[in-house]
Amino acid sequence: MSISGKADIAIAGGGLSGALIAYRLRLERPDVSVTLIEQGASLGGNHTWSFHGADVSAETYSWLSAFVVHRWTRQSVRFPDYARDLQTSYCSISSSRLHHVVAPLLGDGLVLNAQIESVEPDSVGLSNGDVIEAKAVIDARGAKDSKHLALGFQKFVGQEIEFDAPHGLDAPIIMDATVPQEDGYRFIYVLPFSDRTALVEDTRYADGEALDRDALRRGVSDYCAAQGWAISKIIREEEGVLPIALAGDIDGYLNEADSGVAQAGMRAALFHPLTGYSLPDAVALAELIAAQPDMSGPALARFSRDHAASLWKRRGFYRLLSRMLFTAAAPEQRYKVLQRFYRLPQPLIERFYAGATHIGDQARILAGKPPVPVGRALGCLSEDTYLKSAMTAQR
Ligand SMILES: Cc1cc2nc3c(=O)[nH]c(=O)nc-3n(C[C@H](O)[C@H](O)[C@H](O)COP(=O)(O)OP(=O)(O)OC[C@H]3O[C@@H](n4cnc5c(N)ncnc54)[C@H](O)[C@@H]3O)c2cc1C
Repeated sequence: MSISGKADIAIAGGGLSGALIAYRLRLERPDVSVTLIEQGASLGGNHTWSFHGADVSAETYSWLSAFVVHRWTRQSVRFPDYARDLQTSYCSISSSRLHHVVAPLLGDGLVLNAQIESVEPDSVGLSNGDVIEAKAVIDARGAKDSKHLALGFQKFVGQEIEFDAPHGLDAPIIMDATVPQEDGYRFIYVLPFSDRTALVEDTRYADGEALDRDALRRGVSDYCAAQGWAISKIIREEEGVLPIALAGDIDGYLNEADSGVAQAGMRAALFHPLTGYSLPDAVALAELIAAQPDMSGPALARFSRDHAASLWKRRGFYRLLSRMLFTAAAPEQRYKVLQRFYRLPQPLIERFYAGATHIGDQARILAGKPPVPVGRALGCLSEDTYLKSAMTAQR
């Protein structure tokens, strides 16, 4: 059964990227009708998405701030032999705020609790037999497996916790790697939401994607105990297994999708290769899509493909660093790579997270005595060679 009138644009998946695209279209292009389809009961699932202030321009922040639930003016990192405060702001967006800002703008154009079965250039098919027709379709259904990508993983469990007494933090700890190193590069991430509450995450940069939730929860409670923070209540929990891009054939990856369907977010491999974070890319894509002169399906599909391919190709340096991190260093020594990186100038670190590392930064990052023996990594310098051997190992 075909439902309602034909929308100009149907977006499959109301997560971060799909919801931001819908939001920008409603604000910037009220002439374009949008239908956003999501399997969950609300937009965005159960996430806290954070970004560094330097990841977005002031102009972008002026609209993105509608979603920001916390903003700190500085942040810190801690390693076994080094600690640093950075005067870089840090912001968090919650999935509930995303829902509450975007849902009212969409009205009838928001379809929740809808399981998508098929995504075609001119329609989205649902499991109940309904078909939503549209002149253009954007697939924003999140990350998918592909034989064209060789990945490591950043995996974590985070708990938003209420403590018996103030924890004493007034800025995020982006990485506290003074904890025992297990399952790859391990650190604790802490976002202090109020004087008695914080999101505390145990994170590991690991070769395998299996998530040992109990071990990670134990990591969180042990860390809190070591800080002297008595837990009174776990308010909520979130978890993630994010892809870290070691190598890939982006054309092969993008060819897996129907050529007439635009792709967005993680689905389009739009994430930082070394952090797995996708918010800055999702924000940039939402702005770009809303500014397209031609909103037809073929034009949007062509644009999104070119955008994803060109960003991927420009980010080879980050994938090289990912390969070096995952292959040069023995898992329990990986922290040394980050410890050294954080001694570099603050603007370079900000450009790194923003995906704006330039050639001078690259030279600076690679210069000097490596913190770990790089012999094992030399065989991984070529992305093509690495990809071929990873593909062979998978067979
Ligand atoms: C817990 C967590 C925390 C993260 N924190 C950060 C962070 O701090 N900063 C950052 O930059 N990145 C972060 N990331 C990484 C990345 O930004 C997120 O994964 C982000 O949500 C990806 O956006 P997306 O829109 O591509 O995919 P998603 O947000 O996963 O959205 C995909 C949507 O499609 C829906 N969907 C999928 N299949 C179907 C179907 N068949 N039918 C209907 N709907 C469907 C899903 O329900 C989902 O809502 C985090 C990831 C996780 C998991």
